[in-house]
Amino acid sequence: MSRSPFQTFVWRSEIFECQSTDIQRFYSLLAIETERLGLGSKILGQAGHHPLYLLQSPGQKAGLPNLLISAGFHGEESAGPWGLLHFLSQLDGELFKRVNLSVLPLVNPTGFAKGHRFNELGENPNRGFFIENGKAKPGADTSAEGRILLEHAHLLQVASRDGILTCHEDVLMTDTYVYTFEPSQAPGRFSHSLRDALGQYFPIAADGDVDNCPVRSGVIFNHFDTSFESFLVRSGARVGCCSETPGQQPLDQRILANAAAMNTFVNMLAPELS
Ligand SMILES: [Zn+2]
Repeated sequence: MSRSPFQTFVWRSEIFECQSTDIQRFYSLLAIETERLGLGSKILGQAGHHPLYLLQSPGQKAGLPNLLISAGFHGEESAGPWGLLHFLSQLDGELFKRVNLSVLPLVNPTGFAKGHRFNELGENPNRGFFIENGKAKPGADTSAEGRILLEHAHLLQVASRDGILTCHEDVLMTDTYVYTFEPSQAPGRFSHSLRDALGQYFPIAADGDVDNCPVRSGVIFNHFDTSFESFLVRSGARVGCCSETPGQQPLDQRILANAAAMNTFVNMLAPELS
């Protein structure tokens, strides 16, 4: 089965008391969390008439791990951005003594507002991230949002040096799985911890193929393409994960699962203070 780029998906969230496509509510709640946590807020560019934000924990320090969480590349995969908002709402500033956290909360706002996969120009925001002779480069299929991210490649490469988590969903599935990247021949603790965080909420996908990639024990391992996460791992991020929550399950469960994956990611890679 293939995912239709303009089929629309809208769900109701009881957690946030709104529809999954309510972008006004999303940005207003995000502004509250940004303010409460004292996050630095930078507009990387305009996607349609919406800002493409990068948020960063205050007082970033040398010596702490640099972790990046991104969400909302595909507009119908709405539990990523809402899950990120839920994750932020549970944080206090203590975490920022352990980690330099950066967040791309909503990469494809025009798709999110409509509840469809691609952006309003019909482009796929998670394709077209190329590296040529060590330099970040767009290609013929790079989206408007992708070009904005590539213009800030160095900033994002630094921000993801110790890990990238990008939160996607699979609207065709009732089960969960992860794409992971580790510098090893087989999935290790990083891959398994993230899979298991999602496995608290949904069944883990049976072995087989998803989009022509082999899934084994819920993990698609070290699969390189022109996605954002592949790009950052090629650029030097130590580990990477693209989480896939199942769009056939209730939205609020998916929101909680995304927040749990973010918690696991951060806590695994940012050591506790002694
Ligand atoms: Zn996706």
